[in-house]
Amino acid sequence: MLDVEHKFLQTLEQRMTNEKFTAYGSKLKLKAFSGGTATIEAPTIFIRNQVNGRDHDTVLSALSVHLPNLETIECVIAQEVSAPSGTRRKKDDRMVDWTTTVSSRSTTTSRDHMTGLNPRYQLQNFVEGSNNDGAYNACLAVVDQPGGRYNPLYLYGGVGVGKTHLIQAVGNEISRKDPKTRVKYITIETFYRDYIDAIRKKVADFSQKYRNVDVLIVDDIQFIEGKEKSQEQFFHTFNDLQQEGKQIIISSDRHPNTISGLTDRLLSRFTQGLIIDIQSPDLETRCAIIEAKTAAMGFELDPTVVEKIADHVRSNIRELEGVLNKLQLESTRGRPITISTIEQLVTTTAPSRTVSPKVITKKVADFYHLSVEEITSEVRSKHILEPRQIAMYLLRTELHLSYPKIATEFKKKDHTPVLNAMRKIELLLSTDMTLRSQINQIKESLYA
Ligand code: ADP
Ligand code: MG
Repeated sequence: MLDVEHKFLQTLEQRMTNEKFTAYGSKLKLKAFSGGTATIEAPTIFIRNQVNGRDHDTVLSALSVHLPNLETIECVIAQEVSAPSGTRRKKDDRMVDWTTTVSSRSTTTSRDHMTGLNPRYQLQNFVEGSNNDGAYNACLAVVDQPGGRYNPLYLYGGVGVGKTHLIQAVGNEISRKDPKTRVKYITIETFYRDYIDAIRKKVADFSQKYRNVDVLIVDDIQFIEGKEKSQEQFFHTFNDLQQEGKQIIISSDRHPNTISGLTDRLLSRFTQGLIIDIQSPDLETRCAIIEAKTAAMGFELDPTVVEKIADHVRSNIRELEGVLNKLQLESTRGRPITISTIEQLVTTTAPSRTVSPKVITKKVADFYHLSVEEITSEVRSKHILEPRQIAMYLLRTELHLSYPKIATEFKKKDHTPVLNAMRKIELLLSTDMTLRSQINQIKESLYA
């Protein structure tokens, strides 16, 4: 904890004026971190009020560099912290705090009330990799020119691949570049709730509600599925904004084509701009993310350990962060982190995460409503051949099996069909967004 405090103060020093930092930044103490909330101790009421008020975001963002799971900060004056400091007992208490951090993520966020953005999500702390580079570059283009070519920008991908992080980072970056730009981040559920609220209060023209913004960021649009009235309202809001050249950014867990019950006119709006996916990170990107996160958290792991973690936690970066939090706990307890630490950790966090060739074949068969016998048969009709090729593709990309090994799995005498499958699926993936989305969903089901 002291180590984190030290690093936090260093970061804060860079982000505050000298005067301010000497006057009070330097006097802050990090007391506890639990359930996403960090408790900071200030020596006077004045300083506490500064931290809870005017300097809240500066302090929060400086601390979140070193506590990636940080959601809120709470500043108290010295007397308000109950237990005496410096004693052995107190030290143990702190350790308990770390444990709770690890197991329970607070649902409260320290969002900016105006924008709804969480300052934790920045472009600088987003690791670019081959899984997300298209989306990342599109985001940079939007930052550069909101309301420009990519409008709307529609990002989609599985759970925990960084959608929320990236779209909020765009919002934060646009606000920083030009504080006058009005940015608003909402989840589609907020939109829905506001709409219901407007009906109750008999607000005549709901579409006005989100009109006074320059950039509207809408997270998890898939939940609009089946909500016809909300779709209608969203359509109007969308039109109003687009006509005025405002930027709209949308995230979803799937391609708009595969959101069932999406009205045609919304679908056509969504496809007017750029639709781009974020895939699950590959091994290299996972390693890079682990390295970036551990550095920010203030500890380092042996490269073999990094790879071991990356090998086990494959699709969900949130889960990766969970593992790293536990490791940080181990490291603050002074325990060495070895391969066996990881093995123990990973088996307790992810009991049935072993994906075998059989599992992949079965998942693909299930997804396309085929039997395992059909998918592994010789039948070459298109509705069976393509899923078979997808299964082969996934055996290669997910398990790194050799071509001959994959051929054997599918009772083929040589590996030419596997080569063909790889070529065909890779080619399709670059053009067929529906297929990309389907493969994403299958991959996600593999690790769910
Ligand atoms: P999604 O919205 O796609 O479910 P999130 O954006 O919530 O995923 O990401 C889950 C967690 O992983 C967040 O804490 C986020 O900061 C982190 N994360 C995801 N992708 C990256 C990345 N490329 N670099 C750094 N952190 C990432
Ligand atoms: Mg999200």
